[in-house]
Amino acid sequence: MGVRIGVLALQGDVSEHILAFRHALDGAGGVTAVRHAGDIADLDGLAIPGGESTTICRLVDKNAMRRPIETFEGGIFATCAGMVLVAVAVDDPRITPLGHIDMTVERNAFGRQRESFEADVPITGLDAPFHAVFIRAPAVTRVGPGTTVLGSVDRGIVAVRSGPHMALAFHPELGGDTRLHCMFLEHLQDTG
Ligand code: GLN
Repeated sequence: MGVRIGVLALQGDVSEHILAFRHALDGAGGVTAVRHAGDIADLDGLAIPGGESTTICRLVDKNAMRRPIETFEGGIFATCAGMVLVAVAVDDPRITPLGHIDMTVERNAFGRQRESFEADVPITGLDAPFHAVFIRAPAVTRVGPGTTVLGSVDRGIVAVRSGPHMALAFHPELGGDTRLHCMFLEHLQDTG
């Protein structure tokens, strides 16, 4: 049946990630939108998309998804707001993070003047830089010993890996370049 990927569909860039994973899988698996706690345990990978991390955090609890996500045994692909949620520590007390990746994250780290910008970011494991779209992006301010930095910009760390999990401060689902979705699928196979 191939790899089973779910995209957490509570709020945010859901359809864009579904399309990007369909392209990355190229028929070697399936992608579904995840709206119920019971849909999570059978997946190999779960994407937590960009959006508004305070809202996604509230909806995770409202839909009784916290425990199934915290205990999920597959890999998590967390982007932008998702990066905020999978940290162990966040600078905003309204977020109770899920704790998959040993890192501290600062929300909206690029401030008002650079709310939204694009940059070519060199990423460990990619031959050429990734053209990244940042929208009110977070940054990683501390990584633990089990967390590998994959990419940084002047303001801080913007791409990390930890075991089967990846977190990106930008939006890899925008722009049609699926190399980072492919990298996540490769990590799933290596660690699975
Ligand atoms: N700043 C947003 C948050 O922390 C994330 C923005 C995004 O996902 N594009 O929720």
